[in-house]
Amino acid sequence: MKKEFICENITSNGDGHLCLGGQDVVTLAEKYGTPLYLMDEDRIRERINTFKGAVHNCLGDNGIIAYASKAASFKEMYRIMKSENVFIDVVSGGEIYTAANAGFPLEKALFHSNNKTDDDIAFAMDNGVGFFVVDNEEELFVIEREAGKRNITQKILLRITPGIDSHTFEAVSTGKVDSKFGSAIETGQAKAITKTALSRKNIALSGYHCHIGSQIFDTDVFCKAVRIMADFIADISNTIGYTPEILDMGGGFGVRYLPSEPIVDINKFISVIGENIKKVFKDLDIKLPTIIFEPGRSIVADAGMTVYTVGTVKKVPDFVNYVSVDGGMTDNVRYAMYKANYTLLVANKIDEICDMPASVVGRCCESGDIIQENVTVPASVKRGDIVACLTTGAYNYSMASNYNRIPRPPVVILNKGGSRIAVRRETFSDICSLDE
Ligand SMILES: *Cc1c(COP(=O)(O)O)cnc(C)c1O
Repeated sequence: MKKEFICENITSNGDGHLCLGGQDVVTLAEKYGTPLYLMDEDRIRERINTFKGAVHNCLGDNGIIAYASKAASFKEMYRIMKSENVFIDVVSGGEIYTAANAGFPLEKALFHSNNKTDDDIAFAMDNGVGFFVVDNEEELFVIEREAGKRNITQKILLRITPGIDSHTFEAVSTGKVDSKFGSAIETGQAKAITKTALSRKNIALSGYHCHIGSQIFDTDVFCKAVRIMADFIADISNTIGYTPEILDMGGGFGVRYLPSEPIVDINKFISVIGENIKKVFKDLDIKLPTIIFEPGRSIVADAGMTVYTVGTVKKVPDFVNYVSVDGGMTDNVRYAMYKANYTLLVANKIDEICDMPASVVGRCCESGDIIQENVTVPASVKRGDIVACLTTGAYNYSMASNYNRIPRPPVVILNKGGSRIAVRRETFSDICSLDE
């Protein structure tokens, strides 16, 4: 019987091994060592093209995809985005530097962050970042000053807080009125910052941005945000006489981490939102702006997998079984941070029955260093087995740390049956490289 896994790019072979993008994960673990991040490039490109096709279907040339690069940021990712001809989001000088180094054309970058430092702002301008997504007035004044010094007109979007709760994890919900991100419509700050932006000569206001949260499985939340943003735009148009060229609706499209979670059909999802946008703007008799979507997780999450080697297997009778792996919160902090779900499989025993409950834990000196609790593994699991944590393409490598001076794993990209190192494994000497 053909086994089914949570994503089409995951299969198993005749050796009872797990495969990603058709390649044997156990063989890859032998070749590159563990812990190891794998990234299926074919899947990344497929996802980008699904998004591109979906926006094109409903918005024609009026729709743009911008990859939110904080989800997975390293040079090869920016090269892939360049070759796919999409925009990117960046949130720091480091991401701008990485993208620039990879040859990404930064006029297609949107620079986010609720607290851009003066240095960040200057650096972004010197690198020709296309759009600043301005969070607050304080930042606007620094951008005006720096643009003035350079005698340029900087294009911006204003980040607006629509005042809705996306009902996801508290830590990743960003659309509520008391969010640390953006200027709220409800408090009058969104209108005030619009007036300020329009009055500055070195600033060109291109439009508005909102981002309501992450892991959203319901188009209603987006449609609610569209309605609020469109009403706001209508109000601005009526009172100030300004209409935006661009409306950026952010990212946050849900990704399946467990078999029990739904699959978001991006074509349908974008179509519902896109048709809704067209209708709402038509009803309000406002010219349809260019619409940007900013998927991060949903481009890269299920292209990724983390591969570990099992070390100690510890059974605490009547309590819990611990399966320790050679990574942990240093390469995947998401369970420790907000109890994120993951599917784990013993990659070299894919045909064995999983009947032993276990907690898969890392090697860090921290009880909270857990990859996942309450999973089941084959009872035969032992030292030397290979464990795969699925769907780790987003917010894993990009959140990795050197806690306990543990070197970060390499990122190996799989493409059409081949593999290549995109980020090499950190060495002990890399870890000491900044120490005096
Ligand atoms: C993080 C972020 C995104 C991407 O969110 P995902 O959940 O990864 O799709 C998009 N836009 C902004 C402004 C963000 O901060």
